[in-house]
Amino acid sequence: SSVVYWMRMGDLRISDNRALAQASARAVKDNVPLLVIFIISPQDYLAHDRSKRRIDFTLRNLASVQESLHPLNIPLFTTTHTPRRTLPDRVITLLKSFNCNYLFANIEYELDELRRDREVCRLAAEQNIKVTFVHDRCIVEPGVVTTKEGRAYTVYSPYQRNWITVLNAHLSDYLGEAALPSANPITVRTNTIIVPCFNATVPNKVEGFELDTADKAIMSKLWPAGTDAAEQILSRFLNTKSRTTQLGGADPLGPGAETSEKHSRISVYHNARDQGDRDTTSRLSPYLSAGVISTRECVRATMRLLGIQKVNAGRDSGVGRWIQELAWRDFYSNVLAYFPRVSMGRPFQEKMADIKWEVNEEHLRAWKEGKTGVPIVDAAMRQANTMGWMHNRMRMIVAMFLCKDLMLDWRLGERYFMEQLIDGDLASNNGGWQWSASTGVDPAPYFRLFNPYTQSAKADPAGDYIRHFVPELKNLQGSDIHNPSAKVADKLGYPRPIVEHAVVRERALRRYKNPGQE
Ligand code: FAD
Repeated sequence: SSVVYWMRMGDLRISDNRALAQASARAVKDNVPLLVIFIISPQDYLAHDRSKRRIDFTLRNLASVQESLHPLNIPLFTTTHTPRRTLPDRVITLLKSFNCNYLFANIEYELDELRRDREVCRLAAEQNIKVTFVHDRCIVEPGVVTTKEGRAYTVYSPYQRNWITVLNAHLSDYLGEAALPSANPITVRTNTIIVPCFNATVPNKVEGFELDTADKAIMSKLWPAGTDAAEQILSRFLNTKSRTTQLGGADPLGPGAETSEKHSRISVYHNARDQGDRDTTSRLSPYLSAGVISTRECVRATMRLLGIQKVNAGRDSGVGRWIQELAWRDFYSNVLAYFPRVSMGRPFQEKMADIKWEVNEEHLRAWKEGKTGVPIVDAAMRQANTMGWMHNRMRMIVAMFLCKDLMLDWRLGERYFMEQLIDGDLASNNGGWQWSASTGVDPAPYFRLFNPYTQSAKADPAGDYIRHFVPELKNLQGSDIHNPSAKVADKLGYPRPIVEHAVVRERALRRYKNPGQE
């Protein structure tokens, strides 16, 4: 007999991994081998608009997980399965071939995945295989932080206040570190146990999701795989001395490390986080989305840094503000779990379902390629296209621009982000898009439209970010950089704005005020 841990795309680490720790404890107790499986499901990746970059990142991290498991004598097997509809049957067949009596996995809160897992439970029960699904993705799992009436919060601030109370009241439950897996008690004879469809070596590509060689090289340099790399990135954010970036000092693709030696990035985060022209945030999102490091570890690290026993959240300090951002992540997972309609392409606010969107392929293409003629929007889109990552303030600016200035359906933007970003995550991406489109929980009020030029002057005062990503404008100085005149733009071969903000603003206000009308 054996115990199997089914690793998924969001838990690619062996340290502080609850399902893996529980699986290992079970294997030790029963003195049976522990095996780790990972199922590559290209149809799921297609259905969920997974980016090639995210798939490549997954495989690189899986290889690193396999390497870490090797000295513990725990094999990690991968297999590819289609169609996704029959994946539960396939899982059971595999478990039977391993003579498995216990299956462990961390819960995925997306609707398709919940349905799949429910079916796995049903089939496993028929075979007498005991299944344990564990909460691991969030700091406080969905369903715990509720209103007095036991309902889900749909506004962030009261959620966050309650979140911190719950967290501090049960600190060891929520922040306790899951044990590392123990070495397999007996040698697993991989040659005899492998069913033929299993790969003992993690493949380095998935058909249909191959990255081109140049992009693969850039991604590996910007976002190295493995928990050690994630820990270094965390430490670079927390400490003053760790100034070498994961980008190798001066950032070849994004603006460079600008914090002074006196201040760590986190200590000035509350004031500097909205500056897109500086490297002031953690850049941990790819690692948190893929679970290469646990969010619990991020919180514990801030507590160790300050020598505090309780978690602090608030706008007045860098650590407090950063914890609030981690709470946003939990908030959006909570929303996803409570309101499955958000993972079905529907607006959270049903009344907004009738907003009249434009159909304009040319505008959509210009937005995707960073050729709208609005420099801050173009710089940000080019940042996503080259780095697979975008600064949070810039995500808000380009998202608002798509849904309010271009009046294009937010779902087109949501999808493009998933296809480009290495940190693409349904809950946070959908949350961010529905916030920007004023259709979500606790959204930006529709009448508070961003003016992209004012936003540009705030988020990139000297224009360094624009100059970096929009080389056509690299010689422009002063306020010209935010809104070059038609004459200057023509001379530099840079497009004129595809819409005039003052004009399209009125259209957005009109359509949002009366969903369904022109
Ligand atoms: P930091 O500022 O260092 O924050 C630390 C961590 O907190 C982040 O890594 C992330 O896990 C979490 N976090 C921060 N802000 C948010 C937020 N607003 N919502 C949820 N979690 C947050 N984040 C993703 O991880 N994946 C996405 O696909 C994604 N899509 C987005 C789309 C839009 C339109 C918007 C407005 C935001 C989106 N975000 C997404 C949230 C946020 O922009 C990124 O998490 C952040 O920019 C990542 O950079 P960082 O790691 O340096 O963040």
